[in-house]
Amino acid sequence: MATFVGAVKRYLSGEAEQRRSIRSILLGPPGAGKGTQAINLKENFGICHLSTGDMLRAIAKEDSPLGKKVANTLSSGELVTDSLVIEIIEANLQSEACKLGFMLDGFPRNLVQAEKLDEYLVGQDEPLNNVVEFKVKDDILVERISGRMIHQSSGRTYHEVFAPPKVEMTDDVTGEPLMKRPDDNPTVLSRRLDIYHEQTAPLISFYEKKGILRSVDAMQSPEKVFEDISVHFKQ
Ligand code: ADP
Ligand code: ADP
Repeated sequence: MATFVGAVKRYLSGEAEQRRSIRSILLGPPGAGKGTQAINLKENFGICHLSTGDMLRAIAKEDSPLGKKVANTLSSGELVTDSLVIEIIEANLQSEACKLGFMLDGFPRNLVQAEKLDEYLVGQDEPLNNVVEFKVKDDILVERISGRMIHQSSGRTYHEVFAPPKVEMTDDVTGEPLMKRPDDNPTVLSRRLDIYHEQTAPLISFYEKKGILRSVDAMQSPEKVFEDISVHFKQ
């Protein structure tokens, strides 16, 4: 029924033939390399990259009660409310940039978010068709996160050892300064990893049961990880 309603809605809005072909999630723990791969995937496949972490960091910079609340939550490593991230994702999925397809990064992070997302996408007659699991051991994540630097406005990431910028603490593309994320410290990271294992990892079997889970060894070089993921985006 929801599928039929979604098809009718698309027909009425003149988009009858345009079901987006790539409807994906990048699923993995903090520091697994999701953001790094998303930049290449976006370029190669012309789909949008919706990172709830990037969007929440932008909200956290706003001088408003919501901005302050989000900033506090991010620095503690806890999750923000499900309703906030669901609202942000649904609004962004309708943007022009997502016309050909989308990859969600950092969302969903628990079963409630996953179920809400399913409900929304099935209602649009566009169920998810590709969930890529980034498999990385915890000790490697600690190494990656402790050396991470970001260019805040673009979301580009660098690493002190594995992916250094050409000029120290400077974005290669814009020449603007890079920063360390305040939550990329050992105490908050340990909390984020616990939350990942408790709340997000159960999504692996959730999507496996739906037959859309593809797992990649994300401990390889970024180039090799990209090669392995691309296979799933081409299907
Ligand atoms: P990482 O890239 O290290 O996995 P993110 O940038 O995705 O981290 O997220 C940073 C923080 O933003 C999280 O620790 C959490 O506080 C918040 N956050 C991001 N996505 C979600 C979400 N889907 N639900 C709730 N909180 C989120
Ligand atoms: P996520 O978005 O999953 O939190 P990032 O893409 O920000 O992860 O990557 C975390 C850190 O690890 C960054 O500093 C990035 O440069 C580095 N990194 C990403 N992929 C790899 C890889 N395959 N090998 C080594 N370092 C990597």
